[in-house]
Amino acid sequence: MTSIPMLDLRREYEYMKSDIDAAIQKCLGHQKWILGPEVKELEQTVAGYLNAKFCVGASSGTEALVLGLRALAIQRKGQEYFDKTDKIITTPFTFTATGDAILRSGATPVFVDIEPGTYNLDVNKVEECIKQVKGVVGIIPVHLYGQVCDMGKILELAQRHHLFVVEDVAQAFGATWQGKKAGSIGDIGAFSFFPSKNLGGFGDGGMVSTNDPALADLVTMLLKHGGKDKYNVDHIGYNARLDTLQAAVLLAKMKFIDEFNRNRQKLAGEYGRRLGDLKTIVLPKNITASFQGEHVYHQFTVRVLNGRRDELQRYLKENGVDTMVYYPVLLNRMKVFQGRSEVLQNVTEAEKAVNEVLSLPVEPLFSGGPEIPQICDLITSWSKKS
Ligand SMILES: *Cc1c(COP(=O)(O)O)cnc(C)c1O
Repeated sequence: MTSIPMLDLRREYEYMKSDIDAAIQKCLGHQKWILGPEVKELEQTVAGYLNAKFCVGASSGTEALVLGLRALAIQRKGQEYFDKTDKIITTPFTFTATGDAILRSGATPVFVDIEPGTYNLDVNKVEECIKQVKGVVGIIPVHLYGQVCDMGKILELAQRHHLFVVEDVAQAFGATWQGKKAGSIGDIGAFSFFPSKNLGGFGDGGMVSTNDPALADLVTMLLKHGGKDKYNVDHIGYNARLDTLQAAVLLAKMKFIDEFNRNRQKLAGEYGRRLGDLKTIVLPKNITASFQGEHVYHQFTVRVLNGRRDELQRYLKENGVDTMVYYPVLLNRMKVFQGRSEVLQNVTEAEKAVNEVLSLPVEPLFSGGPEIPQICDLITSWSKKS
């Protein structure tokens, strides 16, 4: 029995070995470990790819979110941090860091329910939230699992109420909306290059994208201790630079990103064809055709009905298939957000999702291989027993 992992990073490395080894070798030659030439080159390459005016490397996706929010506080309020009375709308069904970054920027997160088909923010509830909650200053849509949120409505609301939009693009490198790349749509995009993301480095890394030169300048200062000159700074800063070595690896991997995203889409299509008739699970809803976009399937996440999610996960594990639950706990349920956040009404759909979602392997190099058919056969036979 061969085992099937969620991702096979070793295999991906073997696939790109000559490019990555050469990139690392080049760094060993120049020894410019802090903000070396690869950082600038990656920033320019990603900016070109996104068609965004500016990209700034950061030490992680989490720091990219914090840097973006801090820059917005400085730009919009003329102060280092937001106030607690400043509210930022986001989803409770995301990685901890989305909400944590809001707290670290001084603002208060307001959690709004998701739309059950895509698991992304329910934009009608976002609209309700803006009407009901005083002090909303911005929205952080999270493009969950690689699918861009319904940005038309979000941008319209933002414009009407003078709110900023920070896209959490940690799971959606290369995804599009109306032909625009995620991260180039709002005021700021925050990317993660955590190794398991669809563009992942060999350690932590992240990036901030923006079309606003003033925001790009502020982010650049904040991540280098808060000033243009680190020996004489203007703002409360961080040491949150992207490593040269990570930038070198990411530049090498950038060459494969479109191919890998296409492979992910093929795997999703194959899952869809093989699992579409089962009554026990619900396939992920791809609404990108409605906004001329592309889903990059950072995750392929099914909903398992009748309270049987954990049972299916156990069954697959016993048969050598790894799966993951993204996410098992809503942000509004975590201790860190108690007394520090608000929830719009009840987040019923998010509460349901937590108990039903299961992410299946989508290793791009499984394309054309036996893995997806094997997983689907297991799910089909599990579905028929009982
Ligand atoms: C991974 C992730 C982050 C944080 O990125 P790190 O690089 O791990 O700090 C933020 N938001 C979402 C939705 C993520 O998936």
